[in-house]
Amino acid sequence: MIDISIIWSEILNIITKKTSTVSYEMWFMKLQPYSINNGVLILISPLKNVKEILYTNDYKNILPESIKELNNPNINDYLIIMPDEVSKLNTIEIKKDYKEEENIYNNNLNKNYTFDNFVVGESNRIAKAAAFAVAENPGKEYNPLFIYGGVGLGKTHIINAIGNKIIENNSNIKIIYASTEQFVNDYIDSIRNNKNNDQSFKFREKYRNADILMLDDVQFLRGRDSSQEAVFHTINDLYLLKKQIILTSDRHPSELTFLEDRLRSRFQQGLNVSISSPDFETRVAIIQKKSFEKSFVFSKDIINFLAENITSNIREIEGALSKVIFYCKMNNKESADDLLLVKEALREELGGSNNIISLDTITDAVCSYFNVSKEAIKGNKKNKNIVRPRQIAVYLINEELAVPLISIGAYFGGRDHTTIIYARDKISEELKSDNLLKKQVNDIKNLIHRN
Ligand code: ADP
Ligand code: MG
Repeated sequence: MIDISIIWSEILNIITKKTSTVSYEMWFMKLQPYSINNGVLILISPLKNVKEILYTNDYKNILPESIKELNNPNINDYLIIMPDEVSKLNTIEIKKDYKEEENIYNNNLNKNYTFDNFVVGESNRIAKAAAFAVAENPGKEYNPLFIYGGVGLGKTHIINAIGNKIIENNSNIKIIYASTEQFVNDYIDSIRNNKNNDQSFKFREKYRNADILMLDDVQFLRGRDSSQEAVFHTINDLYLLKKQIILTSDRHPSELTFLEDRLRSRFQQGLNVSISSPDFETRVAIIQKKSFEKSFVFSKDIINFLAENITSNIREIEGALSKVIFYCKMNNKESADDLLLVKEALREELGGSNNIISLDTITDAVCSYFNVSKEAIKGNKKNKNIVRPRQIAVYLINEELAVPLISIGAYFGGRDHTTIIYARDKISEELKSDNLLKKQVNDIKNLIHRN
């Protein structure tokens, strides 16, 4: 007969050598040995958090190592269960189900955001240099590192790049990357569930045991007073432990006027760097890099056109590239070299006005002016009262929009582009002498632009 309590006290003895007195008393001593099932030592945990902690990275190897060291042929594994799980012991589902505890660190980083694929230009050179320095030497020089700038300029990219680089150098480091929203939600959950103390315990453990804390978009702390408090304490604790803190925001910390003073001054303490809108050269470099990544060729003219016209931010540039590629593929083009097609693809982006004119708006105006149905105008009817409006619509579309003739033909029920050319030229020729036509065309233009 094996005496389980003797075995457990032997294991505890080994554990004392492997961990601090505090951890030993707080966690391991709380466990009660229950039984040995097929070589598995079953331990009962009085509290959920004891069980969870013992399965986290910091502790999960201590029990297996101690069991190994014990070298008792009757025991080769262990399982920690809650008292209410005893009844399930003989069912399979309980078997080691907590072994695969989710890793609460390092798991939110976006692996696709690296320094390698971050294009550097005047607008972000300093931010990139600071970020790189922090990634090489976390917690040493610039703490906190505060990166600020407008939307879509690469803040999230760059801080993920820092995280990925740090892990590359040291895979054991514990990084928390969280959007401010996630942080706030985590925090709120922790208070809401405070009754059993589990959640709030987990929250503190998670954030205060991190080696690196990254909070993205701290401007969203606006109006979150109690969360600001939590952020302050979390940051303060980590700061005092010389852990690296990295923050981003859409504005300089001094302009985060809705923050508590002490939090704002904490943010300003380290290094504040900005990212601004990319200049022309950088936009060209970004378009080249992204089109290369997407394996789609853009002609030099198109690259320049895009760099000249899509200027606000990098997210918008990415969106524009995807749209252009989509349009090219839809038109069976293997590269982006047709300016008209690009303009069509980016009509909304380039328009700048909220009253976007499309094939439909023009056709609708023509139809309502001549009181014909859209179906008829796009269909095959050849009677004069349909043909005329159709030709006028073609003419106007050609004049108002940069749409390829082929696309216009497709829109009008799959007509050949020569038919489209014919209609267009006929109207523009007649306009020279036909005053009624002139008036009609003008009226319809007014309809189109009336807003
Ligand atoms: P922010 O967080 O500042 O709003 P993001 O980091 O989300 O902006 O960037 C928007 C998009 O632009 C992302 O897909 C990102 O990869 C890309 N991006 C931003 N800056 C660069 C850069 N310098 N080089 C390459 N891609 C970039
Ligand atoms: Mg962002």
